[in-house]
Amino acid sequence: MTGATAVLHRPGTVGEAVRVLAEVGDVELLAGGTDLVPALRTGLRRPRALVALRRVLELRARAMAPDQLTIGAGVTYAELAGWGSAPGLAAAAQAVGSTQIRNTGTVGGALGSANPRGDLLTFLAAADADVLTRSARAGSRATPLASFLAAGRRRGELVTAVRVPVTHGPQMFLKIGGRQAAYPALLNCALVVDRAAGRVRCAVGGVTTGRLRPSAAEQFAADEIDWESPPPAGAGVARRFGELVTRAAREAPGQLPAGPRDPTDYRWHAAGVLAARALDRALAAGAPGADPSETDKP
Ligand SMILES: Cc1cc2nc3c(=O)[nH]c(=O)nc-3n(C[C@H](O)[C@H](O)[C@H](O)COP(=O)(O)OP(=O)(O)OC[C@H]3O[C@@H](n4cnc5c(N)ncnc54)[C@H](O)[C@@H]3O)c2cc1C
Repeated sequence: MTGATAVLHRPGTVGEAVRVLAEVGDVELLAGGTDLVPALRTGLRRPRALVALRRVLELRARAMAPDQLTIGAGVTYAELAGWGSAPGLAAAAQAVGSTQIRNTGTVGGALGSANPRGDLLTFLAAADADVLTRSARAGSRATPLASFLAAGRRRGELVTAVRVPVTHGPQMFLKIGGRQAAYPALLNCALVVDRAAGRVRCAVGGVTTGRLRPSAAEQFAADEIDWESPPPAGAGVARRFGELVTRAAREAPGQLPAGPRDPTDYRWHAAGVLAARALDRALAAGAPGADPSETDKP
């Protein structure tokens, strides 16, 4: 599968894994294998060594503090999908692929692959998450997701976890894709409303190589919402919010090439439609008994 010369390492700790990464230059990390195994099979990747992470139990941990969640790189989509403490993360994880993909695909693998349409990364971008890494050269450090994606994965670096700030308010995740389990999605959108901080955060995947963060739209929504008396604002705010997201999508640098299923005009328009729908639902979620998180696969 990996070519005649690939050596398989099975470390039991993060320290051992990082040591192998430092000693052997050309290494791939084998987490769930949903992206890597097809790349090995087709010869797209021919690493000198594989480091299987399954035995590294430290990477499977999840922790909840009052102000932040810490999610180990080895946590699977299925585990996130059932996590009541993180509704937006759960919604994004539920939107991924099929049951098999959700059972094996991991947070670390999503960051390692850094697919511009990856569902989880879009939510993590809206949530202002940090990526925790460890390497022999730089030790342990935390990097904002946007910087991590812009820099690309560094040689010798292991993603150990992500850190997500806790917010107080509805979280939405919406996706436009083909049939269930087909990959990739065309477009996805995450929205995180923090009533305590009076903030709206939005990210769109599938428009640019990183994640679109429409800051003018976020500021507009924060200014328009009456934070004192939820459910605030009206349909006009969501519509204008969507228009600003479309404008941000059109003007953003690093546009992904147009595909047969998604000409750029459609992509810009759909980004605004998804964002407006997400804000509309988030505002409605202020009503008593409303579900504060939601996923959608139209
Ligand atoms: C049929 C199918 C459907 C899919 N549907 C969706 C979908 O709907 N939405 C979606 O977002 N994704 C989807 N995916 C993509 C996919 O499941 C993810 O990208 C997954 O998160 C990769 O995780 P993994 O654990 O399988 O990573 P692996 O395949 O094991 O590794 C992927 C890459 O990440 C690196 N890596 C792994 N762990 C780490 C780590 N701890 N630190 C640094 N680098 C690391 C590896 O070296 C490798 O380069 C689909 C994939 C398939 C095959």
